[in-house]
Amino acid sequence: MSASNLPQRDDDKLIVVPLEFKCLEDCVCKSQEKRTWYHKKCGKPSFINEKGDIFCENLQNGCSSYFIKDASFQCDEAKKNNTWYQFKNASEICMALGKALQAAENKLESVKLLKFTHQILIQLGQRWYT
Ligand SMILES: [Zn+2]
Ligand SMILES: [Zn+2]
Repeated sequence: MSASNLPQRDDDKLIVVPLEFKCLEDCVCKSQEKRTWYHKKCGKPSFINEKGDIFCENLQNGCSSYFIKDASFQCDEAKKNNTWYQFKNASEICMALGKALQAAENKLESVKLLKFTHQILIQLGQRWYT
């Protein structure tokens, strides 16, 4: 998938990267493998924009976006125990997003990656405690 066909919201042109990082630190699988995260409602791959909002390609089609702090994650291993994981703090999100940005490096110009990184740090700082 190239940057040009990543889903975009009509109302703005925020930078978007695919939601790809390894399982959260406390996940039962202890895997270090990067994985793509899918929207639990519709099963489509998820994306994250520079405001920290996660969404899928069905955003205009019945799915809604949500802040990464409110997102829960479950890999196949966690599914067996019916366990979901959430980020505990902003720095854990930053670590995870580092992986997502690495994965997006071939798809986005570096100036956009830098803008994304800069913006999301600000947004996480502002939105985490609200
Ligand atoms: Zn896992
Ligand atoms: Zn969806």
